[in-house]
Amino acid sequence: MPVDPDLALRQAAMTRAQELSDAYDGLVPLAALRNGFQFRGRRISFGSFYKGIHRPKEMDGAAALTLMTAAEKLGRPRPYEDEIDMGGGAILYHYRAGTLDQPDNRALEAAHALQSPLIYFKGMAPGQYVVIAPVFVRVNDPAERVVLLDTGLQGIDTQPGGPISTPDMRKYALREVRVRLHQQRFRQDVLRAYRQRCTVCALRGHDLVQAAHIVSDPSPAGIAAVVNGLALCAIHHLAYDRNLLGIDPAGEVHIAQRLRDEHDGPMLREGLQGFHGASIRRPRLVAEHPDPERLAVRFSEFEAAA
Ligand SMILES: [Zn+2]
Repeated sequence: MPVDPDLALRQAAMTRAQELSDAYDGLVPLAALRNGFQFRGRRISFGSFYKGIHRPKEMDGAAALTLMTAAEKLGRPRPYEDEIDMGGGAILYHYRAGTLDQPDNRALEAAHALQSPLIYFKGMAPGQYVVIAPVFVRVNDPAERVVLLDTGLQGIDTQPGGPISTPDMRKYALREVRVRLHQQRFRQDVLRAYRQRCTVCALRGHDLVQAAHIVSDPSPAGIAAVVNGLALCAIHHLAYDRNLLGIDPAGEVHIAQRLRDEHDGPMLREGLQGFHGASIRRPRLVAEHPDPERLAVRFSEFEAAA
């Protein structure tokens, strides 16, 4: 197999993409990706994000560097669960529309021939991307205009000569990707349903409001369910997780007795004690309201801890 001449550049790109993923808690805004990455004193683009397959002009070889899919529009079915085939252990990715013999599709085919490590930016919401890297084109099917992507292991699979991790390791990596996509989708769906507001105090904002599970999710590969979620600000999320704040099946907020007995400043008085007996704010759509049965299961934990 010929050696990919751009391996050092790919490693630099992958390191930067991973740094961004860590810095943005798994969901990287387009504005950050647009800054690209540094390689040998030059700034290189991750791609235009208007099209799916990108090979920077600074590269020597023919293979692509990044793949991208945009988020599905709201209200349309989001197909990523179908795009990841756990049985086959691969991610489905489509050729660019139009003729097969255009630069982008040739760069995809070259990535197959060279077994080049690629970065896949998967859109989860408008302008928000999950980083999946490295991925490799395992199967190239020009007749169906699709490729199957294998997930590789960082570091191990970004050396010359293509992926060296075992199929079991790569399957594990794919499972981990699936869990991450599931978590991000859950977060997006919950925050959208609650319009980015804490269900207890109505604090608004993407940076301070989080998606909490009502009961822990035993099947991370299952369908993400808004009805098992609540949007909570950081302080109410922590209080909920620690059973200092409970929400009963009717949606009434309970503050633990031990917290109500304490005396402290305004954060305790107004931020916590003041919500005892208040009602949570629910999503507009009834179908997205928190499930009373799950609230009941969780509330019994709160009562037991009280
Ligand atoms: Zn809150």
